[in-house]
Amino acid sequence: MRQINYQKRLTGFLAGRKCVFCGSRKVCITKRRYAKCLKCLKQKSLRRLRFEIEVIIAFVHQRPVYQVAVEYGISYQPIHNIFRTIREILFHQTELEGKKLSGQIEIDEVYFGGRKKGNIGRRTWSKSVVFGLLERDGRVYTRVVDNLTAPNLMEIIKKKTRKGSVYFTDQFRSYNSLHQFGKHLTVNHSKTFSTKRHNHINGIEGFWSYAKHKLFYTSEVEIGGNSLYTGRLRLNRTIT
Ligand SMILES: [Zn+2]
Repeated sequence: MRQINYQKRLTGFLAGRKCVFCGSRKVCITKRRYAKCLKCLKQKSLRRLRFEIEVIIAFVHQRPVYQVAVEYGISYQPIHNIFRTIREILFHQTELEGKKLSGQIEIDEVYFGGRKKGNIGRRTWSKSVVFGLLERDGRVYTRVVDNLTAPNLMEIIKKKTRKGSVYFTDQFRSYNSLHQFGKHLTVNHSKTFSTKRHNHINGIEGFWSYAKHKLFYTSEVEIGGNSLYTGRLRLNRTIT
């Protein structure tokens, strides 16, 4: 439902004829079908503009690069570059975002990448470790971390969540000092049915399975790059 609103906003943006270079609304269409800004005097072809918007929509819909390239009859690399740039923007935006997560927050960590079987556990260094915070009925924050030590995790939690929140985690010992920031409730996985209804981390676990499913065919999941990919998933989660 919200996806439709997003597309409406995009068309609204086109109808509003805002300059893509300086943001001015004083834009006219030239005889050659170019959108020309009367303020900064830069111009861009309408065809090119429409194409770029369609590539952005393809990114939001998580369509693979090769598919978009075939559809528009251009090579793989330019589309790949655009997708990567959007990922980088998303990554930096979430890192710089000042607003902290608050309310009921689920915290969990997951391993990405590495198709090796039997490497389950917290000491598998060949994989990327992704640490995630999920605000119930709200946003998700993810970050690739080097390790899962308490000081490392506490620093991220301090930076990204508001003090006084309610934290839900599993029984991993690195979360033991969470009570310094707010109420801390731990979930015992072996006793799922006996715990209270609100005491779970199903939200963040659902996000991980969604992310793993979406990233299954992505070969570029690596430390550093991973944040860029989960950035797109965060975007999708807030749109759909
Ligand atoms: Zn302009």
